[in-house]
Amino acid sequence: MKTANQDIKPITTKINKNGNIEIGGCDLVELANQYGTPLYVYDEATIRAITKSYKDAFKTYPKISMMFAAKAFMTKAICKIMDEEGFGLDLCSGGEIFTAKSAGFDMSKTLFNGNNKSFDELNLAISSGVKTISVDNFFELALLNDIAQSNNKTVRILLRITPGIECHTHEYIQTGHLDSKFGFDLTQVDEAIDLIQEEYSNLNLVGLHAHIGSQIFEKQVYYDEIGVIFKEIKRIKDKYGIILKEVNLGGGLGIKYTEDDKPISVYEIAQTIIESIENHSKEYDIEEPYIFIEPGRSVVGTAGVTLYTAGSSKTVPNGRTYQAVDGGMSDNARPSLYQAKYTADIANNPNGEKDTKVTIAGRHCESGDILAKDIMLPEIEEGDTICFYTTGAYGYSMSSNYNRVLKPAAVLVNNGKSDIIINRQTYEQLIQSDVIPDRLN
Ligand SMILES: *Cc1c(COP(=O)(O)O)cnc(C)c1O
Repeated sequence: MKTANQDIKPITTKINKNGNIEIGGCDLVELANQYGTPLYVYDEATIRAITKSYKDAFKTYPKISMMFAAKAFMTKAICKIMDEEGFGLDLCSGGEIFTAKSAGFDMSKTLFNGNNKSFDELNLAISSGVKTISVDNFFELALLNDIAQSNNKTVRILLRITPGIECHTHEYIQTGHLDSKFGFDLTQVDEAIDLIQEEYSNLNLVGLHAHIGSQIFEKQVYYDEIGVIFKEIKRIKDKYGIILKEVNLGGGLGIKYTEDDKPISVYEIAQTIIESIENHSKEYDIEEPYIFIEPGRSVVGTAGVTLYTAGSSKTVPNGRTYQAVDGGMSDNARPSLYQAKYTADIANNPNGEKDTKVTIAGRHCESGDILAKDIMLPEIEEGDTICFYTTGAYGYSMSSNYNRVLKPAAVLVNNGKSDIIINRQTYEQLIQSDVIPDRLN
């Protein structure tokens, strides 16, 4: 069965009677007029459809929990939706912990992970009731044990390991290969366990955590990842008599940004994961562990689109045509960060013939601020509403105030209604942290 991550557009996308694109029953041109641009638009039905697909796809393996990787798109409203859908949260900073807590999220369904958590963040995690901490390195083991001791607490931990699996994705979003900044190398696991057993009595090791990368299109890497982790669990059981009952497999399922992308469905990935769990538990004679998966991109990526207004344009004699829009790398860093590709439409002219090659340029003072290079669209006119698809993940969450451009608003659309979930930043908010020292006054 096909799932929402296999389409470029949100599941409710249509052309309406005004001849404009509508999503969630809302006309994109009207949204652009009402809220201004750039604007992030999130289709609630698509988010809920994909969370339901995850739950449905894994229902034959009841010992599993889904945690949304909050870094893909973190706001208080998304915490509410994830709570309603029965997802936990994978958090990776103090700011994400604070946001979840402020939204009233059930913190007993959260994990804290990251390769350089600070003293303050670990303290915040413990005082906020984060359920489990994924420990990344030796420095953190010692730090966390100290903090746990001074709080008189025992902290549940996973060890983040690098399983040595290479997936074919962009170098910057590969994480599970051996030479990675994340996690313990498999040759360091014993030293970590020795320390936990002999010195760190406030740490309770419950399992292993790995995450092999992002925007993954292959099933085999998940199959293999589970093999490596289960083999390690068996080895630890035989050597130490410790039975690790929890395994966190990370996230990474890919989505479709352009027609060239062929992501697999949530059902296919689930089937592979379940098969690998069954086969490898038999092979290594271990009890099937409790599994966590942490999808981020595939949960919110397809649900979100960004609307821009077309402004100036330039045709280089015998060269490219550049069409500038009112946003760019400040609201979507991915094209300049890793040459990410996108599909776009003109929301007020979706049926026009796509016969014009154009490069959509951002408004920032950087030559690299290009949102889409040489894409085919109908001829663009000033004032057109341009819709970029699949911007729901790592768009807002990587946004910046570069050039002191304000962060856009985000709206959640559903059944013809739109609600603000992030207010557009104001100039006052932009300067509220600025301080002029007395001696400069
Ligand atoms: C980023 C990350 C995820 C989510 O990855 P996606 O590709 O967005 O699904 C999950 N787990 C960990 C540990 C991560 O760092």
